[in-house]
Amino acid sequence: MTVVASPAELRHMVARGRADRHVVAFPYRQVRELVGAALDHCRRGHSYVGRSTTRAVCDWWPCRCGGHLVLRCRMCPDVRVDPVVSADRNPCRTYS
Ligand SMILES: [Zn+2]
Ligand SMILES: [Zn+2]
Repeated sequence: MTVVASPAELRHMVARGRADRHVVAFPYRQVRELVGAALDHCRRGHSYVGRSTTRAVCDWWPCRCGGHLVLRCRMCPDVRVDPVVSADRNPCRTYS
């Protein structure tokens, strides 16, 4: 995974990715537009799909890697972060 240190570098990287016809998708865009497999249930199996009373509370967590989608289950205290933040995947900090 490529790590950029500033917004300017990120823009440069995105522009480079757009210019290359072989690059059909890159993580930055996937995260922003949520292309691909979206999380549709919490770890306890509660569905995020459906009425507003069961739909997960969505938050956006800005991060140096581009950002994370934060989904809070309404039925239990479970919180999922997409992409997953793990200790071995810097520069993401621990979610608090
Ligand atoms: Zn749940
Ligand atoms: Zn991150």
